[in-house]
Amino acid sequence: MTQSNDSLREIRINPIIPSESVVISTARNMRPRKKEEPAPRDTREHVETCPFCSGNEAMTPPTLSAYPDEQHWAVRIVENLYPVLDDNSDQAVLNFGLHQAIFGYGRHEVIIDHSNHGIAIHDMSVDHLSLLLSAYQDRMQQLYHRDPKLKYVLVFKNFGPAAGGTIPHTHSQIIAMPVVPEDVYNEVEHSRRYYEKNQQCIFCSLIDEALTFEATIYDRDSGAIKRKINVGQYVVEKSEHFIAIKPFASRFEWEVHILPLKHQADFLDMQQSIAADFARVLKRTMARLETVIGGAQYNYFLHSIPHGNDYKNCNSSYHWHLEICPRTTIPSGFELGSGFFVNIVSPEDAAEQLRAVNLD
Ligand SMILES: [Zn+2]
Ligand SMILES: [Zn+2]
Ligand SMILES: [Zn+2]
Repeated sequence: MTQSNDSLREIRINPIIPSESVVISTARNMRPRKKEEPAPRDTREHVETCPFCSGNEAMTPPTLSAYPDEQHWAVRIVENLYPVLDDNSDQAVLNFGLHQAIFGYGRHEVIIDHSNHGIAIHDMSVDHLSLLLSAYQDRMQQLYHRDPKLKYVLVFKNFGPAAGGTIPHTHSQIIAMPVVPEDVYNEVEHSRRYYEKNQQCIFCSLIDEALTFEATIYDRDSGAIKRKINVGQYVVEKSEHFIAIKPFASRFEWEVHILPLKHQADFLDMQQSIAADFARVLKRTMARLETVIGGAQYNYFLHSIPHGNDYKNCNSSYHWHLEICPRTTIPSGFELGSGFFVNIVSPEDAAEQLRAVNLD
């Protein structure tokens, strides 16, 4: 929402997960968060000692999948050497009083995004990004198909040490798990309830608002304009099939979400014919972010409908999306202790800056 002055202090509620609140605090003299340094980008194309560089395939665990083929791979998937979860055991559940644990069953794989060591997402070609997205789909499909015990296959990418990136060669990761992660579960549950009440997908509603809604709030006494609400100002990119939106209650200063314009619950249903369009929107969004906050450490992750019988009835209420979360500030004790997120750049300003980047 447009503010005439440059200081904003607001608690915003995530419309999808109402239990999640964000403090937007842009006052110049109040900086509750410390700046996170940009990660130096290793722009070398090939590194002799890097296990992910082409020619060094013997340094990684064996190839699980390669695209277009193993000899001339552009994208390659291997087992993670240090898996967070693995599927080599049938140990079951541990119960000890209030302490309960499910054995860390699942799979953890690495997707080598590109044979070029230091290439950034925004520098990859649309063709290459389409291939990468298809590789995500392909591998998710295989994992769900092979093991019905897996409820969720999470695809994500870390760049920079603060975002958990430890290997400089550009890569993504897949963790397949027997439980649905809390963030996804909350989105699925809340959007299901919204659907029951409104017979409408909340993500579709947010897209509709972003594309059409405009209002002016006047002061009751003077009649002067108090505030202009233009939800359309949250649109960062729009193509034929996709939209990139700066969320109104963004947890991170430069967070952007990409969603298909047409309702779709499962990322696996994205047709090959529109993958290039998604790739283009991803590339352009990453280029905008790079121009405004160059070299920022970031995570992105795919949220798609979980598999299994419990989620079959959520096809109309859930809507898959990619969340891009650059890490430009360090969370403080206030955030860790309260569960609030503090965002020091107003989402309206951030969206405006991102939109203003001239890419053509
Ligand atoms: Zn490398
Ligand atoms: Zn929808
Ligand atoms: Zn999400």
